[in-house]
Amino acid sequence: MFRILTIFLLLCAPVLQSCQQHTQEKPLVISSIKPVQALVVAVAGKHAEALELHQLLPDGASPHHYALKPSDLRTLGNASAIFYIGNGLETFLSKPLENLSGNTQVVALVNAADIQHLHSRGGHDEHEAENTEDLHLWLNPQNAIAMSMGIARTLATIDPPHQADYAVNARQLVQRIQAADSHIRQQLEPLRAKPYLAFHDAWQHFDTHYGLAFAGAVTLDVSRLPGARHVHDIRQIIEQQKAVCLLQEPQFPPALVKTLVEGTNIHVGEIDPLGMKLPLDENTYITLLQNAADSFQRCLQ
Ligand SMILES: [Zn+2]
Repeated sequence: MFRILTIFLLLCAPVLQSCQQHTQEKPLVISSIKPVQALVVAVAGKHAEALELHQLLPDGASPHHYALKPSDLRTLGNASAIFYIGNGLETFLSKPLENLSGNTQVVALVNAADIQHLHSRGGHDEHEAENTEDLHLWLNPQNAIAMSMGIARTLATIDPPHQADYAVNARQLVQRIQAADSHIRQQLEPLRAKPYLAFHDAWQHFDTHYGLAFAGAVTLDVSRLPGARHVHDIRQIIEQQKAVCLLQEPQFPPALVKTLVEGTNIHVGEIDPLGMKLPLDENTYITLLQNAADSFQRCLQ
């Protein structure tokens, strides 16, 4: 035992400083959902190795339904910074964030400078009942830009030596988002007049930005399936407004959609607001946005 300890000391003591930096003292940066993690990864860039980046919600989980595990609570307690959208979206975080010690920077990205805010359209969503803002913010690329700048400012405060790198990475990310944005604008321009239905109303920030025609949402309350009356309303919308496309999401069960579209000519497409299968790198957000645009295009054409 003594010998093992001695060997450990011999190996580690001369470099104790760096041993510590690489184990305990690497600041832990937590993102609530994948779109946020995608922006954090891009802003952190190659200096991601100076930070420990952690995405709280596993791929495939919906922020509307998530319940924190005890291990999640421990992880939150160790964080230097926590990025999330806002209390109205990640409702499961409200209490735990109140109970954190003062050493953690908690950043609600809805409060970042230059965010474009929208009221929710339905008003029946559980996450919108207390908060009437539509918090699917990241689906407007302008908001992703505002969030990226906010993330860079926070990373600079928890890792000052790399402040300039985070600023450069954020500027490069902004340029890539702007390029994708103008490409998508051209791509969707011819499809503006065609009404579409969403499974839940996640796409207002996207369809408002690109001028697409939203006709309605299949489910008004993301915790429940719609009742018979609403199903009737949706079928009327499909017929009267001649909605050409219904976009369902991998985070929600597909069975209901089948019933809804039986006997109509509407296209059913799939769209993923959370980018669940995408690998994480500096282009993840761009790919998420471009995939969404491609889903709209395929479904509306
Ligand atoms: Zn949602």
